[in-house]
Amino acid sequence: MATDKIQRTLAMVKPDAINRSAEIEKIILDEGFTIVERRRVRLTRAEAAEFYNEHRGKPFYESLLEYITSGEVLALILAGEEAITHWRRILGPTRVSQARQEAPDSIRARFGDHANDSHNAAHGSDSPTSAQREIKFFFPDLTLEPVLTGEGAKEYLSHAVSPTLVRALTELCKVRPDDPIVWLADWLLVNNPNKSSGD
Ligand code: ATP
Ligand code: MG
Repeated sequence: MATDKIQRTLAMVKPDAINRSAEIEKIILDEGFTIVERRRVRLTRAEAAEFYNEHRGKPFYESLLEYITSGEVLALILAGEEAITHWRRILGPTRVSQARQEAPDSIRARFGDHANDSHNAAHGSDSPTSAQREIKFFFPDLTLEPVLTGEGAKEYLSHAVSPTLVRALTELCKVRPDDPIVWLADWLLVNNPNKSSGD
């Protein structure tokens, strides 16, 4: 995977879909995202107002606050190539009816409330600036280093994991186990150079 367009975004499973968050998380992983952090929380009205400040004054603002505070939400930091647009693409259009018509496989089509067009199951940041703000909103104590890209990434990987991986893969080819992935995972745990055995 190219490492030069790795982004982070804030995804939120809204109260109407919280009971289906396991299915939504599975889609997220199947789409190739990494879930960096997760937090389940019930927002207060004041918190919801801060989160949706950009919509203050709009006709749907009050019902939006009511909706988003009606139960717990699940906030997720997703990382991946072009994560912001990728996540919004698989969310589908804002309105559930439109999502069902135009993007029947989308998350909002599948998990949104058929009886309420704006109860659309999930949220996604709409720009790098919003992503940064929304990640900070839900995870204020988290300090994320900038994602390494290009030469920096190559250099980091070349000293942090490549030597160990080369040894592991050489062994793997000798042994050719039935389940190479599980074998590799076990080998890495036992031979992790950053941990003495028995930890
Ligand atoms: P989100 O920000 O949740 O990812 P979005 O970016 O597609 O959704 P916004 O315009 O930011 O859409 O609206 C935020 C949320 O407010 C929507 O997801 C929806 O729940 C609600 N909403 C938006 N427009 C309306 C509307 N006209 N009537 C009722 N609710 C609305
Ligand atoms: Mg929005």
